[in-house]
Amino acid sequence: MNRKLEMQDTSENQQSITNSAENFFVNSACIGCEVCSQLAPDMFSVIVSHAVVIQQPEQQEDKRRAFHALLACPTAAIGSREKEGLSTALTDFPLLLAENVYDCGFTSAKSYGGHSYFIEHPDGNWLIDSPRFVPALAKKLSELGGVRTIFLTHYDDAEHADAVIYAKKFGAERIVHIEEQSRIGKQSRTSQQEAAEHLIKGNAPVNWHPDFRFLIVPGHTKGHMLLLYKGKYLFTGDHLFWQKRTQSLGAIREYCWYSWPEQVKSMERLAKEEFEWVLPRHGDQIQLEASQMKPAMERLLQHMNEID
Ligand code: SF4
Repeated sequence: MNRKLEMQDTSENQQSITNSAENFFVNSACIGCEVCSQLAPDMFSVIVSHAVVIQQPEQQEDKRRAFHALLACPTAAIGSREKEGLSTALTDFPLLLAENVYDCGFTSAKSYGGHSYFIEHPDGNWLIDSPRFVPALAKKLSELGGVRTIFLTHYDDAEHADAVIYAKKFGAERIVHIEEQSRIGKQSRTSQQEAAEHLIKGNAPVNWHPDFRFLIVPGHTKGHMLLLYKGKYLFTGDHLFWQKRTQSLGAIREYCWYSWPEQVKSMERLAKEEFEWVLPRHGDQIQLEASQMKPAMERLLQHMNEID
């Protein structure tokens, strides 16, 4: 039975959905991170910081995507009464986005459900930020050739704790900006980040490899970096994201920990780059033609300057 629920902002409605007797359900462990509604938007929606099941999946492909959401959920807040298809869905991770670029899924509560990505590359594979450590994912990454490089857009001891585990497992080298190390070093003498193999300095773009360019964008944090892959895929960390509801690019001042004026300047520099994909840690992903991305960036800059 398909059932579209009325999306009313009432706790009573949330409660009734949480206690639904139907197959997929969401319990009170939900933190409202929106990972489920990003992976399976036809079945999950977030209303007042809590996910609800808006439609039970009927087709196999829909069930598979609902299981992706269940597995990627950082707090195990999604349950299903029927388990058939769950083990198959587990083998789908990392989830292919395009070409050789994947979304790792398996987000972590430590990063409030932050996405991380994987690039399968002939010169060695890359992990961009860190997923939760899950043996099944590590096994799959191993089958895809392992991980040679871990690029951290920014750093937080708790948020990227599992990057250390992945680095050790695959003998991978981590890349982070030196300002992130300094920032964390002040917070914790035992920071794992001090062991990062490559520390980027300054604000000039770094052409690391013909396919990999680093863009330094102070704002959210002082040493925040973006990874531009093949001039097409932009991994944006917490600097930039897409908003499905408004069909626009976004950046949030509320979560800007270092400097909003610096983030605006960083965005102005970024607007001069060409890219088609925005692949953020939080928020929606988007692919636009470069000719559409430019005006979207201009609208965002105008908005950021208005609230500066
Ligand atoms: S992925 Fe999990 S925690 Fe995040 S909104 Fe969905 S149910 Fe809630």
